[in-house]
Amino acid sequence: MSPRLTIPDPFASIPRVNLLYPFSSPIHPLQNLSKLATGSAAKGKGNVRVSLYSKREDHSSPLACAGNKYRKLEYIIPDILSSSPRFGAGVAADSPVPLDGRKKVTTLVTEGAIQSNHTVQVASVASKLGLESVVLLHKGTGGGLSSAQDKDAFLRTGNVQVVKLLGADVRMFEKPVAPKTQDDLVEEVLEDLRASGKVPYWIPSGASLHPLGGLGYARCAFEIAEQEREVLGHPGGNGIEQPRFDYIFVACGSGSTLGGLIAGFKLAERSQSQQRTRRPRKVIGILTSPTMRKPYHEERILRFARRAGEMIGLDPQADITMDDVILDDRFAGERYGVLDARTKETLSLVAEKEEVMLDPVYTAKVARGMMHWATGDEIEKELANPPTNGDQQVNVLFIHTGGQSALGAYADI
Ligand SMILES: *Cc1c(COP(=O)(O)O)cnc(C)c1O
Repeated sequence: MSPRLTIPDPFASIPRVNLLYPFSSPIHPLQNLSKLATGSAAKGKGNVRVSLYSKREDHSSPLACAGNKYRKLEYIIPDILSSSPRFGAGVAADSPVPLDGRKKVTTLVTEGAIQSNHTVQVASVASKLGLESVVLLHKGTGGGLSSAQDKDAFLRTGNVQVVKLLGADVRMFEKPVAPKTQDDLVEEVLEDLRASGKVPYWIPSGASLHPLGGLGYARCAFEIAEQEREVLGHPGGNGIEQPRFDYIFVACGSGSTLGGLIAGFKLAERSQSQQRTRRPRKVIGILTSPTMRKPYHEERILRFARRAGEMIGLDPQADITMDDVILDDRFAGERYGVLDARTKETLSLVAEKEEVMLDPVYTAKVARGMMHWATGDEIEKELANPPTNGDQQVNVLFIHTGGQSALGAYADI
């Protein structure tokens, strides 16, 4: 059971196994942060009222440490359980699992940084499905470990503790010595599992390179569109527009959450074409790692959005273009997984003003970016073009993608 969403075919017929609560993850106002944003917006030229809301993807599922990976996994499970999986054989994303006779997949295998949220959600899904899980944690991915004062604690607490409690076989790796790569390590693990009679199914980091990984957030876009009516109110009469979330802020790690949302909102906008007059919702990705440059991510986001778009019934080339990809790389901080001073201020601000806990790796950076847009003049500048007069109501949605279970490992913040 899940909330009744009006989703058109062919999207509605794509197989999915529900992992979420039978109701939408909540959207609630961020009242005190809205006051901050409106206060500073009023200093500008217009009478702009900014209302901030949060969609709580960290409350989307009863499964451990709910976060954005459960929605992605919902669309991958049918392939895992299939008698002839189309994907999952190894790091080459599109290779089918070679099944040995009538054997089915026995073991989910995935990888991540030491404090990866994704691996927790994969381990939990494996348990739920009665499968084993092998989790590969790389010490060289992300700066969380190298910047931790207590490295020993970083390797045992937070998500590492959780993933072990969920029953995963956890293996930690040092940075591989060239010419060996991380992918080689993965293939070796898969080979060993096969040699011992298991049928492993490989889920790439963040489930984003998996061809079905973008669908979860395409569906979430429909959920958000549905919730707009409840949360922002119905239009009062004919000709009055349905209020919308004008800006939606979300983390961009690998970019498949963002890509999925872009595709989903495109399709939702088409299905709600009577509401065309309203500005389209703007989905803004906040980059959470400075490792790779902006164009690298923009290309990937576009690719993920088009891949999801094609599966849900859009014309990927014509309907989704680089204009739909908005990525802000100013808040990525020093390194992936490192909480810089400014981001830490935001984490504390949101805790003190809204009693909402953010995570140190993703959502704190997103909240910082959102507050920059909302309290500065960036939103006003966009509203002023084309020029408008009178009061302006701007609705902003922050997607909380989870991850607080890593906080324990960042004990010094
Ligand atoms: C994985 C993760 C993200 C990033 O999602 P992508 O789809 O890889 O961009 C954001 N927030 C949290 C808490 C995550 O665990």
